[in-house]
Amino acid sequence: MNYPARYYEEIYRYQLRCHLCPHQCTIGDGKTGICRVRKNVQGELFLQTYGEVSSMGFDPIEKKPLYHFYPGSIIFSVGNYGCNLRCKFCQNSSISQDVPQQFKAGHSYLPAEIVALAGEKKSNLGIAFTYNEPTVWFEYMIDIARLSRKAKMKNVVVTNGFISPEPLAELIEVTDAFNVDLKAFTEDFYLTQTMSKLEPVKKALMQIKNSGRHLEITNLVIPNRNDDKVIFVEMIRWIREQLGSDTVLHLSRYFPTYKMSEPPTPIETLQELHALASANLEYVYVGNTQAGDTSNTYCPTCHQKVIDRSRYDAWLTGLTKTGQCNHCGHQILNDI
Ligand code: SF4
Repeated sequence: MNYPARYYEEIYRYQLRCHLCPHQCTIGDGKTGICRVRKNVQGELFLQTYGEVSSMGFDPIEKKPLYHFYPGSIIFSVGNYGCNLRCKFCQNSSISQDVPQQFKAGHSYLPAEIVALAGEKKSNLGIAFTYNEPTVWFEYMIDIARLSRKAKMKNVVVTNGFISPEPLAELIEVTDAFNVDLKAFTEDFYLTQTMSKLEPVKKALMQIKNSGRHLEITNLVIPNRNDDKVIFVEMIRWIREQLGSDTVLHLSRYFPTYKMSEPPTPIETLQELHALASANLEYVYVGNTQAGDTSNTYCPTCHQKVIDRSRYDAWLTGLTKTGQCNHCGHQILNDI
């Protein structure tokens, strides 16, 4: 469904500039921006995919991944279409990149219908905007998130973080937790592998951190592309200095997909990077595979195991009801 888009201006007759993300696309009449879902129709910008759902269902919160935000809970997860990046290693290319053909086959749901579906399970925590890049269907996401807030649900956004500061501020208002992909730590990687830029993602991470919202980061480790140890340590130090040593970091194993055929990340690489990151950050996990004891949570003060995980299951074996280590009292979770 076409729905009026926001965050744009007319720069010349029927020529529009979209300000939603740092691409700042100039869009001629009848054309879409890089994300392929925001279209200029006779001088007005529309989100073409409002109400379209590519997939939805109840997922463990650990699958987002969020490990320090109500661990062990389930969350109603919703995806739409499109993306403002062009990652060669995209894991959801059928809904993020092959957009125009796909979304015509989707199903339409009003925001209230999404919230009603989410409420069907009493134990459900809230709504996660995920699967494809949710910021490109900003208006639909915000409308759902506002309603879900009213229904006392939590909102989670899983994003590449490539969004302009003003819409991000609006999104932060209705979001409880973010997982942001930090795909690498060089502009060269962002340009050649994703057709975007690193600097705006760093700024978005700092904006979210400064807002006080819950933030976790995912870094997909791709052999020979972003596994250089010197640059990796530079990234880890930046996270520690700008976002804090208690920032939760997920190192995710890559598998060949879409336009990338490099073999999967060796387990040894993940273990090495896990050790390097753990020397600077308190909570580092390896995901998308089993790599030794890298999915459990340990207290950074007394080193007692406090959360036991197996795949997407979590057992809070060493935490008090208020999220402290039950051995030494260190505050580990704020959202439990
Ligand atoms: S949201 Fe889409 S149209 Fe807008 S600037 Fe980003 S890529 Fe371009």
